[in-house]
Amino acid sequence: MADDTTRVVLTYDASDEYRPEPPPPPELPAWKDGSIRIGIHTSIAGDILRSLEIAAGLGANALQIFSSSPRMWARGSARIAEVDATRFRQRRSELGLGPLVIHTNYLINMASPNPVLRTQSVQAFHQEIIRALALGADFLVTHPGSYGKDGRPDEGVAAIAQGLKQATRGVKLGGLQLLLENTAGQGSSLGCFFEELRGILAECPSLPIGICLDTAHLFAAGWDIRTPGGLDQTLAEIDRTVGLRRVAVIHVNDSKTALGSRVDRHDHIG
Ligand SMILES: [Zn+2]
Ligand SMILES: [Zn+2]
Repeated sequence: MADDTTRVVLTYDASDEYRPEPPPPPELPAWKDGSIRIGIHTSIAGDILRSLEIAAGLGANALQIFSSSPRMWARGSARIAEVDATRFRQRRSELGLGPLVIHTNYLINMASPNPVLRTQSVQAFHQEIIRALALGADFLVTHPGSYGKDGRPDEGVAAIAQGLKQATRGVKLGGLQLLLENTAGQGSSLGCFFEELRGILAECPSLPIGICLDTAHLFAAGWDIRTPGGLDQTLAEIDRTVGLRRVAVIHVNDSKTALGSRVDRHDHIG
């Protein structure tokens, strides 16, 4: 007995015809969905992937890391092995963490009047960029630098701008943005005045540079962000100088030191 359900009738249907599909638009990473992204600085000690697990485990949806030891000069090129970089990128995408912010080594000082230290700083910053690209980072945050007790702020600004150009020469940054962090203005460190940050930006018009704001540094630099009026004034000054649209990352810290102390001591929030 014939079973009707097994009989297939082939008829021509115009909608079945093959048509080449247009290439899909480039996919935005999942974290760029407009949602609020809050993260934490996590350690890469042991295995770099641990930083992702810690952030995700704490309920963060973004994170900041160091890509090597933050208070030591890296030996050699300090590259991240491709196998580790691939594992890191895959796991990060599975966890949907973003943005990924990398904070540079604290020893980097491209404003240094010491030519040896300055060259070492530019090379180290270049390697920071290479590691950030390998890990698929979105932002690379750096402190601008210190011009030294015999130097001048304008010389420091020029040296940093030149250092940024030297460190990025021949590198395809892709979506990586470099962020200059405001500072407490301790000693001769640049970046507690937004005019200084503006000066660096103005000298590097072709580089993708933004701003990272640290609330403890703002406070120590004399910006009274405790009150709505003080906050408004601060934001107005940031907008007038570097532009609020350039602010991509905010480090949220309390300050152990007093308003305008110019001393950089972080405290836990609250
Ligand atoms: Zn910092
Ligand atoms: Zn600080």
